[in-house]
Amino acid sequence: MRMCSRAMASKTPVGFIGLGNMGNPMAKNLIKHGYPVIAYDVFPEACKEFQDLGAQVTDSPADVAERADRIITMLPSSPNAIEVYTGANGILKKVKKGSLLIDSSTIDPSVSKELAKAVEKMGAVFMDAPVSGGVGAARAGNLTFMVGGMEQEFDAAKELLICMGSNVVYCGEVGTGQAAKICNNMLLAISMIGTAETMNLGIRLGLDPKLLAKILNMSSGRCWSSDTYNPVPGVMEGVPSANNYQGGFGTTLMAKDLGLAQISATNTKTPVPLGSQAHQIYRMMCAKGYALKDFSAVFQFLREEESL
Ligand code: NAD
Repeated sequence: MRMCSRAMASKTPVGFIGLGNMGNPMAKNLIKHGYPVIAYDVFPEACKEFQDLGAQVTDSPADVAERADRIITMLPSSPNAIEVYTGANGILKKVKKGSLLIDSSTIDPSVSKELAKAVEKMGAVFMDAPVSGGVGAARAGNLTFMVGGMEQEFDAAKELLICMGSNVVYCGEVGTGQAAKICNNMLLAISMIGTAETMNLGIRLGLDPKLLAKILNMSSGRCWSSDTYNPVPGVMEGVPSANNYQGGFGTTLMAKDLGLAQISATNTKTPVPLGSQAHQIYRMMCAKGYALKDFSAVFQFLREEESL
């Protein structure tokens, strides 16, 4: 019954909390698809644009929950998500029974499970739906969503997520969306560092970087970091390495995701030696002034370390 009423009310308002680099274009895509948006961000400037677009801006996550029975959250990390759901003015203070709460932030899967339990106690539904694809994909509406939660609620979540993404994949019980996301990003970090150190070695051996990339990309070393997002300036156009590592996916966020992979590895007693190493490298980069640069700046970081 609950699902039916939600599906029938397809263009009723959707709450959106967290209007940053990703949340801003995602919420705009919901508006483009005809959904009235009820917006909240702790940083008032982030909401201004939405007021101009005709969205209702509220004062707290609780107010969003009072006005919308479908809410998407897109927050930096686990503590922010805990605050927004369970804080003094959190969603759970005023959530309506039967509401669908979708968290697209990348957070610890065990936190997603705890939030799901708290949400369930209030008679509402929680799903984790982190995304793959950066700000460009968020703008273009072609993110990939990895969704965890009750399978019978997947269609209701997909109705909204498909407005912001081209792939919406059901992964299993709550927390499995986060698990898929963390695994992907751990592999991405490892392959990016591998590509950066390989390219650096080749350059120092006298190879032209463009030629080396071409050879790697027709050989068994090829990967997304070498053929789509090469970290060496001058090898490719339209990637952060061509623009002083501006934009893209921040080193801080990559370090955060690798930290989540470490926690998950510890919890499941899984050896992840290269994931641990990648985590340390990205943490060192943050400490050495790369925090706001794209994660492919690991190439520049290695160049600077070369005299050691
Ligand atoms: P961001 O920092 O740009 O945006 C987060 C927004 O949440 C900010 O506007 C901030 O003010 C708001 N916020 C923080 N605490 C809040 C609170 N208590 N109440 C209300 N609003 C609050 O981050 P982002 O780049 O949009 O990333 C969001 C999530 O998506 C992160 O978990 C990140 O790991 C993940 N992600 C990011 C990218 C990317 O390329 N940027 C790609 C994939 C996934």
